[in-house]
Amino acid sequence: MPKKDKEPQKSKKDEEVEIKPSESEKSEEKGKEEEPKTKFTFKCTRCDKCCLERGPIPITFWDLELWARNGVIANFMPYLDIYQKPDGVMDLILKPLPPPPEEGEDTSKNEPFSITPIEDLLEIKCPLYNQNDKKCLVYENRPLSCRVYPLEFDGKNFSIVDVDCPGVGEKGMTKEELKEMRESAKTMYYELTRIRISLPILNQMISQKVMMDLMKQNLEVMSKMTDEDRAKLDEIFKKSSDKPPE
Ligand code: SF4
Ligand code: SF4
Repeated sequence: MPKKDKEPQKSKKDEEVEIKPSESEKSEEKGKEEEPKTKFTFKCTRCDKCCLERGPIPITFWDLELWARNGVIANFMPYLDIYQKPDGVMDLILKPLPPPPEEGEDTSKNEPFSITPIEDLLEIKCPLYNQNDKKCLVYENRPLSCRVYPLEFDGKNFSIVDVDCPGVGEKGMTKEELKEMRESAKTMYYELTRIRISLPILNQMISQKVMMDLMKQNLEVMSKMTDEDRAKLDEIFKKSSDKPPE
């Protein structure tokens, strides 16, 4: 969630964005001498650090619309998931995939329907990053959050979410590029807000619909059962309700 900063917005020219570490960066920096604020200059060095260790990539309606327009939305489906953060905020994310089993690893005892909790996968690389070729597999369709990284807008101010990004401080960014990045960071902020409002509502409505459909299907099945089948089912329910709780 973009962080709220209480400082009043400063009036600056387009090319003068101050670098402010994010809250997490600030806590890591505690104890160190305070660095003077510097103007934002950035040029991505394509080091791919952000594809390898950024955690879940938030997806917005902007991305879904882009993928729908480009006819690639189905390609992304296996990687999409909903992640509810400890603070309750719900995000649509690119879910990192579990690492493949190591050579010789015994997978026979794995639960057939087990899934790795998202929390265990957060430190793993983006599923769409090809580590061998050092390439984003979906570069033309990469999410908005990848386009604005490491810049963030919180509704008032811009900040740098990763001061260790090697591109921060690199010269060569044109005014137009900076302006575009700032606009994209703003769009990201509004899009994230939009999807975070929508997701819990959609989630609840879809759950209710699934539940109603299941109940309807059950009723239909039961209405087609013979008396003999019903008697067997009653017997099963009776046995299970007679069992003492474990
Ligand atoms: S945005 Fe920063 S961390 Fe990501 S690839 Fe570019 S330079 Fe590396
Ligand atoms: S979608 Fe592409 S650019 Fe974004 S984190 Fe994944 S590999 Fe990197």
